[in-house]
Amino acid sequence: MTAYKIALLDGDGIGPEIMAEAVKILDLVGKRNNIEFDLQHGAFGAHAYFDHGHSFPEATKQLCDSADAILKGPIGLSHEESKKIPVDMQPERGALLPLRRRYNTFANIRPVFLPKSLAHFSPLKPEIIGEGIDFIIIRELVGGLYFGKKESGINAQGKRYVNESLEYDEDQIANIAKVAFETSMKRKKVLHNIHKSNVLKSSVLWNEVLEEVGQDYPEVEIKHILVDAAATYLCLNPGQFDVMVMENMFGDILSDQGGGILGSLGLMPSACLGPEKAYYEPSHGSAPDIAGQNIANPYSMIGSVAMMLEMSFGLEAEARNVWHAMQSVFAQGNSTPDLSKPGEGVKMISTQAFGDLVVEELDKTPVSSS
Ligand code: NAD
Repeated sequence: MTAYKIALLDGDGIGPEIMAEAVKILDLVGKRNNIEFDLQHGAFGAHAYFDHGHSFPEATKQLCDSADAILKGPIGLSHEESKKIPVDMQPERGALLPLRRRYNTFANIRPVFLPKSLAHFSPLKPEIIGEGIDFIIIRELVGGLYFGKKESGINAQGKRYVNESLEYDEDQIANIAKVAFETSMKRKKVLHNIHKSNVLKSSVLWNEVLEEVGQDYPEVEIKHILVDAAATYLCLNPGQFDVMVMENMFGDILSDQGGGILGSLGLMPSACLGPEKAYYEPSHGSAPDIAGQNIANPYSMIGSVAMMLEMSFGLEAEARNVWHAMQSVFAQGNSTPDLSKPGEGVKMISTQAFGDLVVEELDKTPVSSS
């Protein structure tokens, strides 16, 4: 029997609720495929800080080091609650960035997908959605402004100041560019490169290196778009995109906009890939506004499981089965509250009910089918 160890980092807010649904799917997938998933929970995020004095405790680091893959829930607190934690221990700085740095998970893959049949979830008009929304955002995840040098203090004029630097070297750019071109080769062979070279010198180098890497992929057409224009086109004509590649902060912002055009961040799973280890997480935060109410949408977490099955364990067909199971739950007229309002002709279901229905659908699907 194949065995895989998975570190489960439940996180904060809605994290434990949506993780519980992901675990139901993993249990079923293990049973169906004769795989033993050794699921071990680790403390991570704000609660880890309150319970263990560190938002990424040593025991969790060891667990992650020894795991075949990591499944991470969202972390963080509301703006006000965050102030109870020292700045450097706040979840992103104290846990998330160190996790990304530890495993050099430089490639963040964020599918933005809504079939035409579920177009009613999107705030965009049907004529803009056309045949559906289907593109992938590839975000560089361990460089740029988020990982640059930071300093703050009092300047010579006695004013408080801050200085953060945006740094990339050519290898970092080439590495993410290769992932983007490889992904494009498997899809429509059109790559939108998102940049800001009219202002940022980092984008000038980014574009230069991307074009150099592109010489190895002559079949892929590169389309350069300024990040501000890309934000507009995502709303006006998302159908033009297939694969988009961008640096860290642009990707953080535009992928949330991706969630917006689908109808909810709850539809946004992701994979964070490094040379030796990968972790999988919803693209969104811990949604403190809805935590503990059993109304969060676990699609993003279960979708992250599907990405893990495919990318870490080579279970492509079963990953497709999980996606289909989730989409058929929606196609049967169900909705989580983030995607519809009462009276819109859908049956409103809870976090747990969504997970149970996905389990039911998946259980009906033959194991080898795709
Ligand atoms: P958020 O992504 O948590 O929430 C934004 C909106 O989307 C909220 O209205 C929320 O209810 C909704 N939403 C998000 N996920 C949902 C889901 N699965 N189902 C239904 N609705 C969902 O952003 P925020 O409120 O700005 O941030 C909250 C906390 O999350 C902050 O502490 C922030 O720093 C943190 N955060 C963490 C990560 C991460 O863990 N990778 C990413 C982003 C933000």
